[in-house]
Amino acid sequence: MSHIADTIHRLHEELPENVKLVAVSKFHPAEAVAEAYAAGQRVFGESRPQELSAKIVALREMAASSDAPEMYSDIEWHFIGHLQTNKLKLVLPYVAMVESVDSLRLLSAVDGWGAANGKVTDVLLEYHIASEETKQGFSREEILDIVSGQGFRNVRIRGLMGMATFTDDEEVIRADFARLMSLYDEIVRLRDAGLCPGAGPDFDVRSFGMTHDYRIAVAMGADVVRIGTLIFGERV
Ligand SMILES: *Cc1c(COP(=O)(O)O)cnc(C)c1O
Repeated sequence: MSHIADTIHRLHEELPENVKLVAVSKFHPAEAVAEAYAAGQRVFGESRPQELSAKIVALREMAASSDAPEMYSDIEWHFIGHLQTNKLKLVLPYVAMVESVDSLRLLSAVDGWGAANGKVTDVLLEYHIASEETKQGFSREEILDIVSGQGFRNVRIRGLMGMATFTDDEEVIRADFARLMSLYDEIVRLRDAGLCPGAGPDFDVRSFGMTHDYRIAVAMGADVVRIGTLIFGERV
């Protein structure tokens, strides 16, 4: 069995049933997605608009020339990278969720695109939990501001996404993840008290944990883990 199939099977066995695995296929070809799909994986993550749309076209062609033309049409794509507002049309028609909303400007643009195109998009707010300055995301205050607002007609804010500091120090990783869990719990409490109109009844997703820290994430309560390198190998 290939490394990809083997790892997908292993992860499906290891992860609790309520944890969704996003297989992060960025920088890897459509053939790698096809291998993971054949092993039963259906949720994939991409971080660059052009790469996402090119991969969808490639998979469509692979399916069309096979004896199962519907193959791959049930893939659930999650966008997990920085999204510029001028790239929305490459991404929003195809994805089930944008996990990486990191500015109010982007949130409004996704809402505006949805109004014009008749689609309500599920999003996560990216929370900057790492100590590195370079990682994107909102501060706690910015997120509380957004969810205490009136919300958007064409965007469903489904939860929070975060990336821990890149370190081998598990205490640091745990502290980062704990900040995300605590903000999530705070929002749910406020929401249940009627104080968070921006977070609806379906605010229920905590996406954190990658190749080097997904086990910690699962133990701490992640609903979604996003794993690339472990499945597909190093990105080149
Ligand atoms: C690339 C990426 C991942 C996957 O990282 P790995 O370490 O390869 O598992 C997860 N989340 C985001 C936001 C990413 O950009």
